[in-house]
Amino acid sequence: MLFRCKNCGGNIVYNPDKKAMCCPHCDSLDSEEKIEDSQAIVPSSRICASCGAPIELKEHTSATKCPSCGTYMVVDERVQGQFTPHLIIPFKISKDKAKELLHKEFDKRPFTPMGFLSNASIDKMEGTYVPFFMYDYKSDMNYRAVGTKVRTWSDSRYEYTETSYYDIIREMNANFNKVPVDASIEMDDKLMDLLEPYNYHELEEHQDKYLSGFMAEKYNMGEKSLTPRAEAKVKRDSHAMISETVSGYATVTQAQESIVPTKLAVDYALLPVWEYVFNYLGKDYKFQVNGQTGKVLGETPVSKPRVVGYGVTVFGMITILGFLIRMAMLVL
Ligand SMILES: [Zn+2]
Ligand SMILES: [Zn+2]
Repeated sequence: MLFRCKNCGGNIVYNPDKKAMCCPHCDSLDSEEKIEDSQAIVPSSRICASCGAPIELKEHTSATKCPSCGTYMVVDERVQGQFTPHLIIPFKISKDKAKELLHKEFDKRPFTPMGFLSNASIDKMEGTYVPFFMYDYKSDMNYRAVGTKVRTWSDSRYEYTETSYYDIIREMNANFNKVPVDASIEMDDKLMDLLEPYNYHELEEHQDKYLSGFMAEKYNMGEKSLTPRAEAKVKRDSHAMISETVSGYATVTQAQESIVPTKLAVDYALLPVWEYVFNYLGKDYKFQVNGQTGKVLGETPVSKPRVVGYGVTVFGMITILGFLIRMAMLVL
């Protein structure tokens, strides 16, 4: 499907600044008309409804852009039926804002190669919706430990030490709402964890129009296969919750800790990420901007000739430091 402007026939996209569907051609707001796919469904390609060019589809792509004319389209059967998203956080950071955030983060770093944030290069950045499962869990926690507190005082003859022993017992229950786990094979799990947190209270009921103007991927890992990752997060956070309540002791000897997570519900959600890929000396460097909060991730490629000079300087400094420490020890 695609969204067409009723006024001028142009391709309408979702505009994060205006929080509305906006026609980039005639500037009209909310004048979109949804045009459903009428072509016979071929899994790996589409014909662009605007210009007639063929559009290759990757296996999991659910929204993309025509490489010939730039029209944004949604792959109907990949956002319907079992693939209908329940929830979505629409993009809040616009492309211009995402560019600005990358500049702010990387402009001052040393050793970035020429062209890294040039307009021609950074303009290729695309917004992508990443598929997630959001798990609701109940967690039953049981914790036993022995803690000690030590008091010391003295008089003219003795120094006294008093050790008190405490039985620490914690029985807690907690509900965890919307624990996110990304459901994309292509997305690096660690990266997604680093892009968090999203503000999950801004999750909305999914609407197809939010995808217009962006790339998207349908889930390609099953909810069941991702359950262990959700459970591990619940256990980790439960453990942290208990630990927070045990404080003020000189020593704590844990006798028992049991955390039993129970899955209550699962939602399929799409979360927004800006992605910028920069190729330097044959290697792709990836940068991400959280499409809701603006958090920036990514390692700048290192420009080789300059780094050698830097390495030598650092080595020199380390040598001098070591020497100074040895001198100090001799004096002692
Ligand atoms: Zn228009
Ligand atoms: Zn086209």
